[in-house]
Amino acid sequence: MAVRRSKEETFSVKGKTEEWLKKAEQALHKGGFANVKTNLLLNQLTGDYKNLTIWGEIIVTLLPEGENIKINAKSTANADNIYALFSSPNQKILDQFKNNFYNSSIMALIYCPDCGKEVSGSANNCPNCAYPLSKMRNQTQSFPPVYQNNQLIIAGYIAVFLSFFIFPFFFMIIGVVLGIVNLTKGAIGHGVLQIVLSLIFGILGTFLV
Ligand SMILES: [Zn+2]
Repeated sequence: MAVRRSKEETFSVKGKTEEWLKKAEQALHKGGFANVKTNLLLNQLTGDYKNLTIWGEIIVTLLPEGENIKINAKSTANADNIYALFSSPNQKILDQFKNNFYNSSIMALIYCPDCGKEVSGSANNCPNCAYPLSKMRNQTQSFPPVYQNNQLIIAGYIAVFLSFFIFPFFFMIIGVVLGIVNLTKGAIGHGVLQIVLSLIFGILGTFLV
């Protein structure tokens, strides 16, 4: 008898069970699973995954819980070959499903910014209100990445605050430098505010305190 091991992962999504069953089924097909079967009674999908090094199968179960749907993916694979000694065939099987599942669920549906209806992510125009979705996609892609370094922004404000109380000149310089860094990294409002406030507080602090 072959030695077999299992591994499972659970994550949750929002939406309708039937739709996620469809998406999971598509993901299994895309991921190269054979013999994909859907059991609508159990909200369960099964598929076989076989290649040169991996022999196994997957069971994907959808468990609706109020607004959320818990998705449990369990893979079972032969663990008595050389390949299994060096890598995890079960992880490979789970990834094969998950990667395709995420891609298809991201690509599958978006919300029209004009009418708010769910539409296909690959449609050029909204079928409901004819909003040009392809234009929006191009615009979204060309937006610069959002600057998210909150620590530097907070540090800038701390320097601004300190420049009013202790070592005004020293913290004024730090506040200005951090303001410039935040400015050049895209947090323009914070950067400008930090530079201006550092200068005001630093100068006031130096001469008044
Ligand atoms: Zn629309």
